[in-house]
Amino acid sequence: SSRSSSKAALQRGRMRLSLQEHLWAFYHERVNISPEEQQAARHAALEICAELRAFIHTKVPDMPLRDMYLSGSLYHDLQVVSADHAQLMVPLILEKSLWSFIPGEETIMNVPGFWLVRRENLEYFPRGSSYWDRCLIGGYLSPKSVLEVFEKLVTGCMNWPAIGSVLGYVVRPAVPSHTEALTLSLEVQYDSERRLHVDFLPLLVSEDAVSLIAKPHRERENLWRQSFWSAETTKLLALDRDDDGCRCVCLKIAKAVCKLNPALTPLNASHLANAVLLLCESERNWSREVLAERFTQLIRALVGHLEAGRLPCALDHKVNLLCELTPREVDDLGYTLYCSLSDPESLLRT
Ligand code: GDP
Repeated sequence: SSRSSSKAALQRGRMRLSLQEHLWAFYHERVNISPEEQQAARHAALEICAELRAFIHTKVPDMPLRDMYLSGSLYHDLQVVSADHAQLMVPLILEKSLWSFIPGEETIMNVPGFWLVRRENLEYFPRGSSYWDRCLIGGYLSPKSVLEVFEKLVTGCMNWPAIGSVLGYVVRPAVPSHTEALTLSLEVQYDSERRLHVDFLPLLVSEDAVSLIAKPHRERENLWRQSFWSAETTKLLALDRDDDGCRCVCLKIAKAVCKLNPALTPLNASHLANAVLLLCESERNWSREVLAERFTQLIRALVGHLEAGRLPCALDHKVNLLCELTPREVDDLGYTLYCSLSDPESLLRT
């Protein structure tokens, strides 16, 4: 029996080895994007950003904004499969005395990770005292209404065919798919077969450095979404830098699996990055030799989170990153991943 157990160990070793090999092959062939492609996409995004910045400064010079900047996985080599999107961050300036930020758990909606932005001092500074009063709904700054202001400007006032032809691109406002939350995005075809989506993402930063983005809660459109993106990305990159680890490789493979497999698309970068960060709390060794083991653990951990209906944000455990998914979606995701546990390689056959 010691013989059969060593045979079993050998077989397990072989399986591990082959999953390991499959993962690296998948990573190099499907997941990772060449530096040239990333560079071309970043270049197109920068040109579009320059046009938007110039147009907004000329057209609405009194709109209180800080400098816009480009951001996203494309800038940290965390994008997967194809270099096809970037975010243009648009920070709004709010007068400190006129606005206050109320955490979601202190409202009757009780949703940690989302915030209300309330207009204060209306009796002394009546409606209209702040530029952003035009986006008030029921006394609160509405992210949806802020997006609509930009939508009118970006899609209604800008002559994209003309701008595009000067730049040598085809540019058009992208219509959000009906499954998506409200988004404002430009589709830039900068090459005969390459397209880039530039998402417009208005942003607020509170005095305590809480960042809120205008990507409203799926059902409660008045709520701003707290962004942990910068802190999460910085943390993952720093952990890998310290020990030359494979956390980002593992994350990118998982992102590609979810991007390529329609049954898994409800799992986004934030779900996956946080599941990896949570796994980093219990697993210290992320050397490249243990990629297959960590990847399998990641899938198992996701199944566990989905079964519990709870995936805590690694940087603030009271935030449940599954809170916007329907119970049906959570069940279906859990089932799909559970079925893959006996044969994780099946996830790579896309
Ligand atoms: P990917 O788009 O799946 O490759 O993953 P990212 O890491 O780029 O995640 C992008 C998503 O995170 C965007 O759709 C944003 O809605 C959201 N997000 C939240 N905060 C931020 C932020 O500060 N910067 C960017 N770029 N995205 C953010």
